[in-house]
Amino acid sequence: MTESTSRDGQNRPTYCIGVDLGGTKMLAGAVDQAGRVTHIERELTKPEDGAQAVIERLAGLVGRVRGQLEPDAHIEAIAVGVPGGVDSLNGIVDKAPNLGWEHVPLASLLQPLVGAPVVLDNDVRVAVMGEHGYGVGRGAKAMVGIWVGTGIGGGIVIDGRLWQGTRGVAGEIGHSIIDPNGPRCPCGNRGCIEALASRTSIERDVRKEIKKGTKSRILSRMKEKGRVQLASSVVAWALRKEDRAFIKVFRRAQKNLGLFTANLVNALDPEVIVFGGGIAERLGEQFVGPIRDEARKHFLSKRDIERIRIVPTSLGEAAPVAGAALLARLRLGLVTEDEIRSAPRPDATETAQETAVEVGESVALAALAMS
Ligand SMILES: [Zn+2]
Repeated sequence: MTESTSRDGQNRPTYCIGVDLGGTKMLAGAVDQAGRVTHIERELTKPEDGAQAVIERLAGLVGRVRGQLEPDAHIEAIAVGVPGGVDSLNGIVDKAPNLGWEHVPLASLLQPLVGAPVVLDNDVRVAVMGEHGYGVGRGAKAMVGIWVGTGIGGGIVIDGRLWQGTRGVAGEIGHSIIDPNGPRCPCGNRGCIEALASRTSIERDVRKEIKKGTKSRILSRMKEKGRVQLASSVVAWALRKEDRAFIKVFRRAQKNLGLFTANLVNALDPEVIVFGGGIAERLGEQFVGPIRDEARKHFLSKRDIERIRIVPTSLGEAAPVAGAALLARLRLGLVTEDEIRSAPRPDATETAQETAVEVGESVALAALAMS
């Protein structure tokens, strides 16, 4: 199954290598033609070393993945998800604040180091593509991905295709304004969902709550664990310990995400809304359940509400890796959009299983169901 006939007619195992290039760490894996992600390798990004050093480290990481594959493996492409704005047609990173990059021609710099075509796109968009091609959104005609991290990013799939918009800038759902009197968002507006419910916003509000005198042990826990930011592991700990300040802020964030989700459902009536990012990966249903409950209260049409699946990511950290590979295959004409659109939908029991099992297994599950 992992083997296939490459374009030159030799029967060699064929992969794309997908990379999730983050501001803190990078993660790469081999993606076979069924979308299964294997041989995951990680590396620190260290953007302070400059773009050239990061690109060389990235090439080294790709080399490590490749070194574990069959000696005769054929690499179709290196596909990179980048945290920022990209000119994907020309392989240029326009602006990636987390990397400190502006106008970096990543594809042309990386290609000679890895000896394969390089395709890139925005990290959240590729993650949404991953869920659409190989995860919980398989076969969905309309789907929205909401990635909650330091910011909130997203992607919209319409008619089985990532919706680009009239000017190519669609999917900035994190800047939907939920409360015009709310806190200032990095984009300049007030009360965007990102300013209300991103991990950064949750942390800001927890600190405020503690200043007001609400009991909490979360800051000392962060110190103990050597975390300068509110990591997903700390979020899980605070929920387990029923940390007062944290629970108060977290429930409010979930409520706002519920309102936001209802807006999306009322506007688009999608089959699937998938939540990704560190917190969704870590907490799964514990994160998404209350969001779904709140959203349903505000659905305009109450008919068949079960048909709108509001679910956590099934691919977890592998979503951007798988999605980047899928995107590369689309770009290089190795798969067609029709093939993706006609993929069988995961059934309800499988989706429930997917959210319960470990990431690696779920990737295999999704791939098995697709074959
Ligand atoms: Zn905003």
